[in-house]
Amino acid sequence: MSNIYFASAHVKSIDRNASLPAKFARLLPHCNLERFKDKRVAVKMHVGGDIGYYTIHPLFVRMVVDAIRAAGGHPFLTDGSFSTDAAVARGYTPEVVHARVVGAGGEHDKYYVSVPTDVPGLPEVRISGNIADADAMLVLSHGKGHGHSGYGGAIKNIAMGCVSYATRGAIHALMAQHFAWDPELCTHCEQCVHGCPTAAVHFNGEGVLGINEHHCRYCMHCTRSCPTDALTMPQPEEKFRGLSHFPI
Ligand code: SF4
Ligand code: SF4
Repeated sequence: MSNIYFASAHVKSIDRNASLPAKFARLLPHCNLERFKDKRVAVKMHVGGDIGYYTIHPLFVRMVVDAIRAAGGHPFLTDGSFSTDAAVARGYTPEVVHARVVGAGGEHDKYYVSVPTDVPGLPEVRISGNIADADAMLVLSHGKGHGHSGYGGAIKNIAMGCVSYATRGAIHALMAQHFAWDPELCTHCEQCVHGCPTAAVHFNGEGVLGINEHHCRYCMHCTRSCPTDALTMPQPEEKFRGLSHFPI
């Protein structure tokens, strides 16, 4: 059974003690950070990318890092290997957050531990080596506006965030296999394209339908709007029929 502590984001008054950092400081002592004593702790977060900036402010990261150190732990900040530049751009530097910023899979995302799986189409999962090496992990997740919002983002920060980019791509490709598209039945009416709330459905120059699985919420608007059943979501045991997928 886990204890869940919650601090409201509502700032009731213009008062230092009502601010989010002050609330966070009051919450941290309840988090049993003593469990990290003498351990190398991977502080896993997503540092953002491109022009995205809704990530956790470096001040909060620094507070966590300092609290782990005060409890006797040895934290380092980590995210995907190719996110290091984005980390610096947002202020996640050793000087600011009081911890080294380490690519989870090494400098080139080539450091990983391979774990075999029995998932069809996913023979192995490559766990990022620096995370596998750590004695413990503390995950900082921010609410997301895509997918299944905050919870999806929090889970994804671990499930997709602690594996190599090759495994991320393989998992996304698995998601694409939820769809089947039959070019023989498709009339190219594009109702699926217009019905998609996230602009995830596209036709390429050859008229082949593709789903950007990263944007997809599995709302099934596209399949429901298809008048010819050319686009469907078959059960897993049914055959995948020639759907292309877009790299992300
Ligand atoms: S399931 Fe929903 S989000 Fe996904 S492609 Fe279809 S309409 Fe778009
Ligand atoms: S709604 Fe169906 S028939 Fe129309 S373009 Fe999409 S897949 Fe093709």
